[in-house]
Amino acid sequence: MLEEGSFTLIMLLLSTALGLSFLIERFLEIVNGLYKKTAFTNLDRFAGVPGEQGEILSEPQQEELEESHPPILFTVDKIEPANALETTQVFLLQILGVLAGTGICLAVDFGLFAPIGLFDGISARLDALLTGILIGGGSQPVHFLIEFLSLRKVAAGPAGTLPVVGSQGVIVDSGEDKTCTFDILDVPYNGGYKPESLENRNLRPAPPDLIVFHHTAMHSDATFEDVVREIVEVKGWSTGYHSVIASDGTIDNFCRWDRTGVHALGVNGRSLGIALQGNFHTEPGDPFSNDRGQFGNIRPADSQLLSAAKVVALWCHLYKIPVKFGETIVAHREVRATACAGSNFPSAAFEELVKHCYEAWNSHEAQTELVFYKQKQYLYSENREV
Ligand SMILES: [Zn+2]
Repeated sequence: MLEEGSFTLIMLLLSTALGLSFLIERFLEIVNGLYKKTAFTNLDRFAGVPGEQGEILSEPQQEELEESHPPILFTVDKIEPANALETTQVFLLQILGVLAGTGICLAVDFGLFAPIGLFDGISARLDALLTGILIGGGSQPVHFLIEFLSLRKVAAGPAGTLPVVGSQGVIVDSGEDKTCTFDILDVPYNGGYKPESLENRNLRPAPPDLIVFHHTAMHSDATFEDVVREIVEVKGWSTGYHSVIASDGTIDNFCRWDRTGVHALGVNGRSLGIALQGNFHTEPGDPFSNDRGQFGNIRPADSQLLSAAKVVALWCHLYKIPVKFGETIVAHREVRATACAGSNFPSAAFEELVKHCYEAWNSHEAQTELVFYKQKQYLYSENREV
């Protein structure tokens, strides 16, 4: 299950499933629109309501939307039933979706579960039926399945080994054996902390073209929850950094990557922000200096720096950001009067690791995984051009 050999096949199957689910969503959207149109014609008091949800878009409008956004736009579930009539309508639409899904899957004998290793040994017809039900629910259930499989792949990885980069490379700067077992899918991402809270806000005006790295300036033992609490509850901000890397290298996501974070005033609109847990400023006498280790580690741990480098390299691949330190990848202090990410931050080593990860992920295997990774939700803003 999810072995390297079968990986491309699984990806292909899931992409097909996702495509079919989009198709069904589109179909239901049109049915819903037609239904509303009829309802409006029949009921005079509703006649002529412009821009009503469910309105059928003209062809050029649809093309425009598809160009600027993956077809995720067409979701049926956004309809919130306000009365019995609408509840019936939503229910009927869902039934229709399941019928369409099972119809398609049975007709072309498309089964997803046996090939990906779930429900081993089920019959092809039952597999097609279950797959149809899944797809009939729209793209959301398929996204859940993709996320589940990504996580399971991580869980199935070799235990106790330090995650390392790419398949060919050796990371300098450390005595440990860096035989590569790490891949892109091991970078966790599911939209971060309460992704739905940013649904209608912090929209990106354009794809990100800058990456800003920080230290949290908190104790290196502080947790991800501490960071979220500090920013959301104490500061009262809507969100913060996009990713936070704990001292042990654990990667947590805070702000949705398809939304602008709150981490670097002046460049939030165009950037992605990553923070390493800890305080790496060691200038004696400066406010909040960690020169005597008052805040724990005075420089990032190796595994922490490596995890941060992976996230940055992944962003560069996902959003086509060139790897240019000092230009497209900067410390907070390079864009703002601040000590962040600290005077003792090992910038040169970090740069080397990012470049190493980025280049390792130019491999064919990694690029295949990248295609898979791009199926995740909350990755691209509606204005994406990547
Ligand atoms: Zn900062």
